[in-house]
Amino acid sequence: MLIFAVVTLNTYEEKLVDNKINEINAQGNILSNLLIQTLVSGDFDNTDIDYEIIRMADVYKGRILVVNKNLKIIKDTYGLESGKYIISDDVVKSFKGLGKNYHNREKNYIKSIYPVTDKENKEVIGVIIMNISTKEILSLRSIMEYKAIIFTISLSIIILMFSVYYSEKLTRPLNNVILSIDKLTEGYMNEKFNIKGYYEIEKISDSFNHMLSRLEKLENSRQEFVSNVSHELKTPITSIKVLADSLLLQDDVPVELYKEFLFDITEEIERENKIINDLLSLVKLDKTSGDLNITNININELLEQILKRLRPISNIRNIELIFESFRPVSANVDEVKITLAISNLIENAIKYNKEDGWVRVSLNADHKYFYVKVEDSGIGIPVDSQEDIFERFYRIDKARSRETGGTGLGLSITKNIIQMHRGVIKLYSKENEGTTFNVRIPLNYIA
Ligand code: ADP
Repeated sequence: MLIFAVVTLNTYEEKLVDNKINEINAQGNILSNLLIQTLVSGDFDNTDIDYEIIRMADVYKGRILVVNKNLKIIKDTYGLESGKYIISDDVVKSFKGLGKNYHNREKNYIKSIYPVTDKENKEVIGVIIMNISTKEILSLRSIMEYKAIIFTISLSIIILMFSVYYSEKLTRPLNNVILSIDKLTEGYMNEKFNIKGYYEIEKISDSFNHMLSRLEKLENSRQEFVSNVSHELKTPITSIKVLADSLLLQDDVPVELYKEFLFDITEEIERENKIINDLLSLVKLDKTSGDLNITNININELLEQILKRLRPISNIRNIELIFESFRPVSANVDEVKITLAISNLIENAIKYNKEDGWVRVSLNADHKYFYVKVEDSGIGIPVDSQEDIFERFYRIDKARSRETGGTGLGLSITKNIIQMHRGVIKLYSKENEGTTFNVRIPLNYIA
């Protein structure tokens, strides 16, 4: 604002000075026309012209000198130099027809030297020197300066007040955000953000609440996982205890019963073992994500191996295992983990199938991914369970899953492995008709 004010004032002053110079030159022209006759004749007793010069000097609050051809001052409105001779550079130059204007800012005057030309002979016959005060312009500038200062100060105060008001208004919601985060850090997990402020802060608040609910979900699923683990681990042990106790409490137990109960006990131990193994591989996956042992694997062979291993199980229930390969595929994957992931899918397709059903495994690829599809003619998965089946320990029919030796960890292990390979798993299922799992994995592992 100051720079603007100074520049404007300077321009304004320059303009005023220019105007003044133009005005003086116009007056110089009038005077020069009046003076031609006098200067040609050389006698200066025309009182009218004398009066005119004095009036003009008066109007412009200045001094006017008239110099004749011989450089003699024939009129000085101050009466100080009349009759004297003047030999200054500017005057001499003026006789060559070159007028001149100066503005002396320090001493506040404009000096204008105006040649009087005899138009008939085209000859400079005298010079008019006008010293005109610019005090008027100066005082006008001071007034403007004063007003500009007042204006600048008032505007600065207004801007300052607005800045203080708005910065306070803008930072208040941010302070509330900080307060709420501090509260959360102290452990008030249920604390929700409820911040009304400007748009961005409300967005922050929304994102934070979103993150909070994710955290809450994570915390809940962690607690659920811990309680599920203890429950799952306790169930076989409770059965073992009941079986063992009932043998101990009875006298003369027949050997057959001992054998039968011990068989059941061994089954429970195997189950416990399976749960522990599944849990360990899950924990290991969590820990070593990114720590894959990637090698180039022939996927056709890998699938054939898995199917060969599972064929005996499917044969028991007369389930047909079909393998369809559209092209030879080799990909960079962790062989052990991918085998585990796909085995889980095919095992499930057999386990949750009907007698004399079928399971079709197909393999395809494009330039970026390979696709494994596992279809079955089984019992299907209800729509409202389809999102949950990848959760740890989630089983639709606990009794059936237990019967088939399920732990509820298989699909969550599978999904984990596929995600570690930057792949995707999707499922389509219709109850009582069957289920299809589609897996897509990049041919080249992306770190
Ligand atoms: P489980 O060890 O019980 O098989 P999973 O995590 O492998 O655990 O599967 C979770 C649940 O999803 C199973 O208990 C079963 O109810 C359901 N499920 C998985 N695959 C299929 C399938 N192909 N057909 C029908 N239900 C399935």
